[in-house]
Amino acid sequence: MSARARHSPTSFHLLAKPTGAVCNLDCAYCFFLSKEMLYPGSRFRMADDLLETYVRQLIEAHSRVPEVTIAWQGGEPTLMGLDFFRRSVELAERHLRPGQRAVYTIQTNGTLLDPEWAAFLREHGFLVGISIDGPRELHDAYRVNKGGKGSFDQVMQGLGHLREAGVEWNALTTIHAANAGRGGEVYRFLRDECRARFVQLIPIIERVAEADGEDTVPWASWRDRPLYVQEGDRVTGRSVTAEQYGRFLIDVFEEWVRRDVGEVYVQLFDVALANWVGEPPGLCVHSETCGLALALEHTGDVYSCDHFVEPRFRLGNVRETHMLELVASQRQRRFGLDKRDTLPRYCRECDVRFACHGGCPKDRFVRTPDGEPGLNYLCAGYKAFFHHVERPMRFMAEQLRHGRAPAELMRVYATEDAHRGRNDHCTCGSGRKWKHCHGAHTPTMASPG
Ligand code: SF4
Ligand code: SF4
Repeated sequence: MSARARHSPTSFHLLAKPTGAVCNLDCAYCFFLSKEMLYPGSRFRMADDLLETYVRQLIEAHSRVPEVTIAWQGGEPTLMGLDFFRRSVELAERHLRPGQRAVYTIQTNGTLLDPEWAAFLREHGFLVGISIDGPRELHDAYRVNKGGKGSFDQVMQGLGHLREAGVEWNALTTIHAANAGRGGEVYRFLRDECRARFVQLIPIIERVAEADGEDTVPWASWRDRPLYVQEGDRVTGRSVTAEQYGRFLIDVFEEWVRRDVGEVYVQLFDVALANWVGEPPGLCVHSETCGLALALEHTGDVYSCDHFVEPRFRLGNVRETHMLELVASQRQRRFGLDKRDTLPRYCRECDVRFACHGGCPKDRFVRTPDGEPGLNYLCAGYKAFFHHVERPMRFMAEQLRHGRAPAELMRVYATEDAHRGRNDHCTCGSGRKWKHCHGAHTPTMASPG
């Protein structure tokens, strides 16, 4: 191993895509499906010898820490079949050193999961991410199969198998034009009907270039579009706006903060709290720098990030270069540092920069009010959300500093809510009456009398 690799990070995330971009669904907003074009003629199946190389190198690269995360993603990874994953676990167990343990994760659309899959995932303690965008009507707006039909029923069936087997899972919910404005409803669906205890919210921002014309929904399907790359300063009509994103987060927060603190983990709220406390937030998007969440294609090609699987961000191939060298390369270090070093002045002087850190570089394609390029498209939403949660975050951070439970915050809200008039403005800032907005769903308002 080279000197450079010796100075490499002790831990990093690599999302492996054993089927490349191939998926059994045809979600209208999926930026990744078009990446099939990067590998013309490929069978899109990770070869057995590459699987071994990948697992071995990943474990070697984590030799200085007790835990290594083996993460599968797609496309749709379950298309590889269960035997592929059985082999991956066997290989991991063979290569793990004494005292080292593997954490297995898989991100799936859930449609192919059956009781056999569920039993396997449970047996090996997989953490399973299920993509679900809300109740049927909202989920089926874009998450459709190859025939254009909604996938809601199959997803719920797959999820049912996971729950029956006791598999640990989290909901990965994208926010887009169809479910924007319905944050509270989406959250209640995830919590009450899906029984989700971990929720990740991901904004859909599909960039298009001026040359793609005036139509803001230029492609019905990825098959009609060119290779998706992070270029263009316009977005499709499926994308969420910054204001809608901020409102969605606030809606979810107002629901969560009254009954679910300590019970339901909404990733972004945890991340915000970590930044308020001054600890590493655990999510690249709101970290000062990034570059430790890379992607591995079915061929062994390694890219700087899952969102930058495009030729100019290909770092190399694990068949030729040890992945630790690629992760520690000057190019990748620069990629990660650029997140901080390219922030416009508007961000550098922002009062919530410590919580936001300018968001993900892939979304930095608008101008600041004074005309500087490189501002995040979601800025207005980020500002609205981080300002809105300032007081509760400070409270929870203070609780943690004194070794007390952040869930105490719910009592503060309950006391304030008890003194709130039914016709008062709602605390979420929607301008609606409390009784018609979040007041309608608080435990006190819901109780008889
Ligand atoms: S480019 Fe964005 S998604 Fe990729 S590692 Fe950096 S912050 Fe994370
Ligand atoms: S809220 Fe806006 S200005 Fe502030 S750091 Fe985030 S993107 Fe930059």
